[in-house]
Amino acid sequence: MLNADLVIRNARIRTMDPERPEARSIAIFNGKILALSQDDDLGFTAGPDTDELDLAGKTVLPGFIDAHEHLSWFAESDLKLDLSANRVNSLTQIQDLISEQTRLSKEGEWIRGFGYDDTKIVEGRCLTRNDLDWVAPNTPVIVIHISGHWAVVNSRALELGNLNRNSKDPEGGSLGRDPETGRLNGILLEMAMFNFAEPSLAVTETVVPPFPRDVFMKALQKATAVLNAAGITGVGDALCTPHHLSAYLEQAARGLLTLRINTIVPHTFLSHFEKGGLYGGWGNEWVRAAGIKIILDGAISGRTAAMKNGYEDNADDHGLLLIEDQFMLDNLVQRIHDMGYQACIHANGDLAIEMALKAIERAMKLTNRPDPRHRIEHCTMIDDRLLERMAKLGVMALPFSSYIWQHAEKLRPFYGDRADRMFAHKSFLDAGIIPAAGSDHPVGLHSALLGVQCMVTRKTPGGEVIGEGERLSLNEAFKVYTTYAAHASREEKIKGSLTPGRLADMVVLAEDPWESDPDEIGRINVEMTIVNGQIVYDTESA
Ligand SMILES: [Zn+2]
Repeated sequence: MLNADLVIRNARIRTMDPERPEARSIAIFNGKILALSQDDDLGFTAGPDTDELDLAGKTVLPGFIDAHEHLSWFAESDLKLDLSANRVNSLTQIQDLISEQTRLSKEGEWIRGFGYDDTKIVEGRCLTRNDLDWVAPNTPVIVIHISGHWAVVNSRALELGNLNRNSKDPEGGSLGRDPETGRLNGILLEMAMFNFAEPSLAVTETVVPPFPRDVFMKALQKATAVLNAAGITGVGDALCTPHHLSAYLEQAARGLLTLRINTIVPHTFLSHFEKGGLYGGWGNEWVRAAGIKIILDGAISGRTAAMKNGYEDNADDHGLLLIEDQFMLDNLVQRIHDMGYQACIHANGDLAIEMALKAIERAMKLTNRPDPRHRIEHCTMIDDRLLERMAKLGVMALPFSSYIWQHAEKLRPFYGDRADRMFAHKSFLDAGIIPAAGSDHPVGLHSALLGVQCMVTRKTPGGEVIGEGERLSLNEAFKVYTTYAAHASREEKIKGSLTPGRLADMVVLAEDPWESDPDEIGRINVEMTIVNGQIVYDTESA
């Protein structure tokens, strides 16, 4: 008789499998679920090597899957200097921190600051090249603004980038200059910044080098530990460069991953896949390359989503489109579709969503491909007509999980009554569209349980309900974070529910959400996280 590796008994197992919604015990073998039982008798003999776990009635759920999270950014943020407003409020403090960093870093190593917010600085003026040169005359420094759309660099950095007063502005960006002398002031805007430092958006090789592989690997392990501690067992890295993808593959091959990763690679790298003939969906149950990302419009919190009707406080402001030309978008989506990848199109506003659907409709008409399962990332501002088109095309929605909580104060002033139908989980389900969890962490908050709380209550931290009609049942909300999120990477047959034969990824909670106050779900402790049958987080040993 086959002996299980691990047997969990005396648990309240909520499987998310409609065929068998509850069980009391579960046996795991070789990373997969072997059997479940309504009592403690699994019909297997526990051998000498079988671990046994008595959970004293605690609740077990499938591991949470966050289908739109920024794992590589999150990992790398730990390697950068935090200059955000909750840490500094003056240029002097920024200078002090950079000065300290120059003493700690090795020769030639870049200092990379992030989170700088010019509106929260007491001096009331912008950081410049001169401020940075003062404390770092020889070390290259880049300070990225909180928006992620511009940065300030010092003279050494400009020198390494071959930028000087004679340099021309790149397409879609500009180099800041002293208005009187024309000398560069160190500010790099939009494409000038992306080409300089953001490989996922650059059209040329960046001046700021990627982190060395071993440094990134260490940061990755730290980042995955944080997510595991929140019960997360799988993510979609929503902007993953080939450099990161390669690191994930190596980590997986060495057996060091404790998180399953679906990669969504920026479209700027699509030609690499085309040249290599790498048809979409390659990889394994640890790392899978299924999606290609297109960023079509701006952000909900940044007030730049592209909308048909203007913003609540300025009807003439319709947000911004990063790709304005429908023909260009059509062409891009067609290439993604033809290469067998899922097009993962970032579209917040209804104007952008409509453009995305047009491109998907066209591609699906021109090339027949069963269930291409293209996705609209965020998909915030919808209407009935858009829902109908999405359902017809089998397009998935990846709405923000907890923006009701995080951006409560902005929603009514920016969007008025439209806020009631943003993050429209219930409307998606009613229309036959599958919504999958997307925290957008570290832009958003990573807690899956808070995400579930928001989907169930639609309550802000102040207790205001925004969009009562979009509330989900608890069962549906957990599906968004499990089975539906597995669907987002076409992996619903191997994970997302606790079913014999599927991957043994699960989470043990300190309290049962079905017996908790819905307003407190976000506070429930994750006691244990199991990935591939191995305990990767345990509150007792943490
Ligand atoms: Zn994102």
